[in-house]
Amino acid sequence: MEIVVIIALVLGILLLNRPVTLLFQRLYTRHQYKRFIAAETFYHSVVSHHLKYYNRLNLEEQRKFLFRTYQFQHSKNFHYIEVEQNAEMPILVSAAAVQLTFGLEKFKLNYFDDIFILRDDYHYGFYSRPFMGHVDQTGIYLSWDNFIKGISGLTPNCNVGLHEMGHALAYVNFITRTEEDKHFKKEFHNFSKVARPIFTSMQGGVKNLLGDYAATNYHEFWAVAIEVFFENAVLFRQELPELYEAMSRVLNQDPLNFTGSGYATIIRRMEPSARKVAQ
Ligand SMILES: [Zn+2]
Repeated sequence: MEIVVIIALVLGILLLNRPVTLLFQRLYTRHQYKRFIAAETFYHSVVSHHLKYYNRLNLEEQRKFLFRTYQFQHSKNFHYIEVEQNAEMPILVSAAAVQLTFGLEKFKLNYFDDIFILRDDYHYGFYSRPFMGHVDQTGIYLSWDNFIKGISGLTPNCNVGLHEMGHALAYVNFITRTEEDKHFKKEFHNFSKVARPIFTSMQGGVKNLLGDYAATNYHEFWAVAIEVFFENAVLFRQELPELYEAMSRVLNQDPLNFTGSGYATIIRRMEPSARKVAQ
């Protein structure tokens, strides 16, 4: 009799697999939200102190931003290498990922369970140049001193947090395909129609504000373009307007779309026709 009950239970679980998974996800999200609310003030103080981007969001978007940051942080294991860890570090690194993906539906960069925070520039593999950060199958690596300089605006056009999260976003969508965002994948094709000719011209020696490093390969072009898009949006739109437009479409957000009140939405509103998602 017990066996019959167990078999019936297993069959039931198999049949109800998806709805049950969704239900558990919803319950888990609700549970996380309760815990997040208890910590929201602290998250707000950390993020608003460092991130200009966050301070331009309206109140509703700020809460969404912080909850995503909380969820991202709690989906990763953070490792600290030769650097004294503090409570701000995982929050700010998570916030960099959330900034990049704020216009997208998928934001957890699933595949990457581990994030490594190192003290400063480091050597990796056989490369002679020191690294500020990198992404590989073992995780996302960032040097803390460069990360902080990037979000403080001390290094124009350079934000290693956004740069590495840009690599990670491409990684989960195109290499591991572990967290594909339909909008992002569809629009990336259109982005490349604009971006590839610019990248090719740079490889042929043409200079622009993206700088020489962006001509290294198309992965670096993508990651550098993300940095400049957020860090130097006005010049980017002036000098490379089509690329700026393509970037704001693929990320579904526009850093220049403010009214100046600090309470304007920056999320790009898609035209009705663009809402139909292609398979
Ligand atoms: Zn890179």
